[in-house]
Amino acid sequence: MTRILGEDWLLPELDDLNREWFTRGRICVQLCNACGGTQHPPEVLCQSCGSQDFGWQESEGAGRIESFTRVHHPVHPALKDQCPYTVLIVSLDDLPGVHVIGNLKEEAATPLAVGQAVRAIFEQIEDPEFGPLEIPQWELAS
Ligand SMILES: [Zn+2]
Repeated sequence: MTRILGEDWLLPELDDLNREWFTRGRICVQLCNACGGTQHPPEVLCQSCGSQDFGWQESEGAGRIESFTRVHHPVHPALKDQCPYTVLIVSLDDLPGVHVIGNLKEEAATPLAVGQAVRAIFEQIEDPEFGPLEIPQWELAS
């Protein structure tokens, strides 16, 4: 698979909060073990109860476009050959209230619309420092 944002684009630096997101190969968000709430992006404290006791909740990876933007101007020199590309905010069908961000894999043949169905795909990359990565991205559901 060709990397969506090109070979020069920086890879994420993994830490305890983002490792599951970038390596699991499934959409997964923080699950508070105290109140049962889910949240994304991962944080040190639960947004609902303040607990620091977390696990992970996997999602089926199906969702709806909540918002999108088409990036025409590169925010980093490594992206100058990738523009334009599309960034989505996606609401997950099986985790109400949780929104995630990712890129659309390929340009759509028809204009995008809020509410359109999408599904997660995973860009597999071997990072020389952190090992295998599974970068979440999105494609239109058929
Ligand atoms: Zn909580």
